[in-house]
Amino acid sequence: MRLIVFRKFPVIITAMLQRKQIYLDYAATTPVDSRVVQAMLPYFSEAFGNPSSYHRYGQDAEAALENARETVAQYMHCLPTEVIFTSCGTESDNLALRGSAISAQKERGAKHILISPVEHHAVSRTAQQLSNNYGFDLEYLPVDGFGRTTVEDVAAQIRQDTAIVSVIYANNEIGTINPISEIGELCRSKGVFFHTDAVQAAGYLSLDVNSLHTDLISIGAHKFYGPKGIGALYIHKGLSILPAQTGGGQEFGFRAGTQNIPYIVGLAEALRIAQSEKLTRISTIKPLRDHLIGTILEEITDTQLTGHPDERLPNHASFVIKGVDGNALLMMLDVEGFACSSGSACKTGSPEPSDVLTNLGISPDWALGSLRVTLGNYTTSSEIETFLAALPKIISKLRKLR
Ligand SMILES: *Cc1c(COP(=O)(O)O)cnc(C)c1O
Repeated sequence: MRLIVFRKFPVIITAMLQRKQIYLDYAATTPVDSRVVQAMLPYFSEAFGNPSSYHRYGQDAEAALENARETVAQYMHCLPTEVIFTSCGTESDNLALRGSAISAQKERGAKHILISPVEHHAVSRTAQQLSNNYGFDLEYLPVDGFGRTTVEDVAAQIRQDTAIVSVIYANNEIGTINPISEIGELCRSKGVFFHTDAVQAAGYLSLDVNSLHTDLISIGAHKFYGPKGIGALYIHKGLSILPAQTGGGQEFGFRAGTQNIPYIVGLAEALRIAQSEKLTRISTIKPLRDHLIGTILEEITDTQLTGHPDERLPNHASFVIKGVDGNALLMMLDVEGFACSSGSACKTGSPEPSDVLTNLGISPDWALGSLRVTLGNYTTSSEIETFLAALPKIISKLRKLR
């Protein structure tokens, strides 16, 4: 019995390798743009210096570091000294929340934290930790059926002792874009720190801090065709936050540790490309995405779009499909050659609907059948047609299994 399986194995693997896999999970991560790889390469070997060193090697590394910082600052319309590099989007979120909450607690006795209920775990679990271990009173803002938080919602719950408000710019699971600029203006008028997680937004939306009125903005390079393991945090000038790492005082004292120059160069080049080629990319991706949403809603019964129909990321489509197990759907799609997601890390074993979806008021029987399809720079119209031809058959097969 076992032997037969093993003998068949190479055949199955060969068949899998021959069929082209179609990647439709760009919100999870993106491949690194070849121009980004080229920009990074010299900094592994030729220009390997430590930017803190006095000599030429150090000076060359420091020049690359400061160049990268200026590039990021240019696209955020801020001062280079307001940009610090971190190890990822998660670290930026952690530093923004923990650093500013603890500092506001010490400096003005603040003890209240206000976040949206559909934040990425990098924000929500940090806020929960601050509440469980550092005495903060954590409250959640309301959201509408699309996952949006309004400025009126924030106005109703913000307090004098609020340390920080955090609202996600564009949601990873449902694609919805929040009115960050209005919320930012309100928080600034109240003297309360405002953070936004722009990790998904950075590839498609404006990061102009002058119109966003935001004190802290997190980004991570691997969501916009840069490498994994590198992020940045915008920190509004003069804002006091407790450093996450103490040591050699790098990154203006906010984040000690010798900087990862090749990855920092990669992040800056990826951001430059993403922001300067944004409009052309959107004009090809969005019609494909709209066609995908329209066809799925029309051809598959008992299917709903999750998130906002218009105020959403242009590459992002997400659905709930009644009578289908989301994990089984992802598995079957994978077997058929499609890489999609349910929108949140799926728990094998005991399937539980995602918090984000249940917070939108979607009932568990619908929420268990969630599907996220995110397009990107390398998505073609023929890939979308192949996907649209396969999906209805897969879903009806799964529905029959129930
Ligand atoms: C991916 C993601 C993160 C985490 O970023 P990493 O660089 O993977 O740590 C945080 N927030 C959002 C919205 C994300 O999509």
